[in-house]
Amino acid sequence: MPKLDEYLKKPVSELVADSPRVIPQEEMERHKIYSLLLMSMVAFNWNSNKRGIDDSQKPSPSKDYGSNLLLSTPEKPVPRGKSLKGDYLGHNIAAFAVDRDGFVIDFDFNHNEIFNSSTQHAEARLLNRVFSLNQINDSWNVGAQSEATSSNSYGQLLQGVTIYTSLESCAQCSGIMTLGNAKEVVYLQEDPGQYKIGNIMFRLTESSDPNRKALAPRPIAASAFGFNYYSALSEKFGEYKKATGNSSITSFLCTEVAFLVFIEAEKELHQLAHNGLMFPDWKAKLVTGSESQLSNRDVLEECLGFYKYFAVKGRRGTPH
Ligand SMILES: [Zn+2]
Repeated sequence: MPKLDEYLKKPVSELVADSPRVIPQEEMERHKIYSLLLMSMVAFNWNSNKRGIDDSQKPSPSKDYGSNLLLSTPEKPVPRGKSLKGDYLGHNIAAFAVDRDGFVIDFDFNHNEIFNSSTQHAEARLLNRVFSLNQINDSWNVGAQSEATSSNSYGQLLQGVTIYTSLESCAQCSGIMTLGNAKEVVYLQEDPGQYKIGNIMFRLTESSDPNRKALAPRPIAASAFGFNYYSALSEKFGEYKKATGNSSITSFLCTEVAFLVFIEAEKELHQLAHNGLMFPDWKAKLVTGSESQLSNRDVLEECLGFYKYFAVKGRRGTPH
């Protein structure tokens, strides 16, 4: 493995470092719109009952988590998804996939609890779902090749696809994305427990041919496009660890403090529609030289529309 041989002679810091890539402002705006959508979806389906409905499964009263009852008051009503009143299906982590034209293909949530499985992560569930859906619907444009040569085979299926995930991916999910040859993965919060596995896989699978993409998706921390909520979540998680001695990121993602950050992003998504965009007409240039179908203005429309669809479909419990 040529890349591994190369890195064996270098300090580990080079293997785990973020991949340097200057993101143009226009593209930053596009990433921001999708990221706000993802945070809005997590906020909508937020559930802080990590140990069951109304925390009734707690072995003892805990002050670690915010209570859903606190989240909505007559003075501060917070209209939420159905799950708020329900049991805890999984952690407050979501992911969705965007095709090369800019359309959102589908979403999924972490479902570890409902399936009593440590593998039911949002990204893994999402990608398995996208592979399944491709068997019945190939309307989205995911390939990096021209129409004439595009292929729906599993090896190429995700090569034009960007995954947005609210939490940095683990080894399992990075592995699935690599097997699917996904283009890039944007994550909105760093997970120190994943030891930069996404960066490592990206660097080890990079091609020496600059025109060929790495097998692993390029990881993009939302800080790379100046997403304020990335640093906010990082900071609040740091404070949570210090105050509680609990270093579980999924416990942090049950707190009211974390929820308020997601709610803020949800507000910003809806404000964007009124305030306007800086680069409404910009379209992403694709590898082939053609442009993506959606401009940033269209992406915002797409995201607001997808949010409505998601609010209806909500927190489905599918086995994939
Ligand atoms: Zn994972």
